[in-house]
Amino acid sequence: MVTRIVDLRSDTVTKPTEAMRAAMASAEVDDDVLGYDPTAFRLETEMAKTMGKEAALFVPSGTMGNLVSVLVHCDVRGSEVILGDNCHINIFENGGIATIGGVHPRQVKNNDDGTIDIDLIEAAIRDPMGELFYPTTKLICLENTHANSGGRCLSVEYTDRVGELAKKHGLKLHIDGARIFNASVALGVPVDRLVQAADSVSVCLSKGIGAPVGSVIVGSKNFIAKARRLRKTLGGGMRQIGLLCAAALVALQENVGKLESDHKKARLLADGLKEVKGLRVDAGSVETNMVSI
Ligand SMILES: *Cc1c(COP(=O)(O)O)cnc(C)c1O
Repeated sequence: MVTRIVDLRSDTVTKPTEAMRAAMASAEVDDDVLGYDPTAFRLETEMAKTMGKEAALFVPSGTMGNLVSVLVHCDVRGSEVILGDNCHINIFENGGIATIGGVHPRQVKNNDDGTIDIDLIEAAIRDPMGELFYPTTKLICLENTHANSGGRCLSVEYTDRVGELAKKHGLKLHIDGARIFNASVALGVPVDRLVQAADSVSVCLSKGIGAPVGSVIVGSKNFIAKARRLRKTLGGGMRQIGLLCAAALVALQENVGKLESDHKKARLLADGLKEVKGLRVDAGSVETNMVSI
């Protein structure tokens, strides 16, 4: 009997496909710290275009992508970022924005669907007149899909409204888009449209789309120039990263189109599991590739 194990711990446990390994083996590489790696350049160019932003930067992890992004937007110690209390940056990233960046996290309640009420965001924005006492609000962070709520999607309407609010108050908007392709596919909204209101987005290559390593951040040319410098400061400047970027290019090409089927399977799994006595599964809230029990 052949036993086939399907590993459903996380979308991070995928192994590179044959096509990814072949692309890695034949990747053209050079020193990316010096800015010469052609495959990194190809990945960054393609990601910038896909996300509708001016420029992109490969980073070793989503955690570094978020840290670099927050720190570029909050370039003065004592800056404050408004974020959901149940978001990845707040919970799973070792408090890096505070410990490394001197950025104060203003935590606002996340709803079960991953949103934060717009009026609560607005109420959390500091009055600049109180600068003798208050940190300075610089940034709002959203997360799409929202991991801790089970991979729920933030709609384009909601994202646009938060973007308008940020603009009105002279703030930046960062999206932790670790699974932004999942959100785009599930919502049926092109990914560049979905993140149009954002000044920066961090996208994981090694989650739903199955590349072995890395994330990409996107934003304006000016944002990415500062991010490149900060990446180096944090030890994230790496040399022949074309090896990793080659696998990511295959992931983008081959796997984004498979996400819809992932989502269908997740729903099927949730519907089945909820019939199992003793398991509690909220099958109705499975919108993308996560099922929690
Ligand atoms: C995984 C994840 C990250 C961080 O990515 P790493 O590559 O694990 O550092 C950030 N945000 C969300 C929502 C994630 O799921």
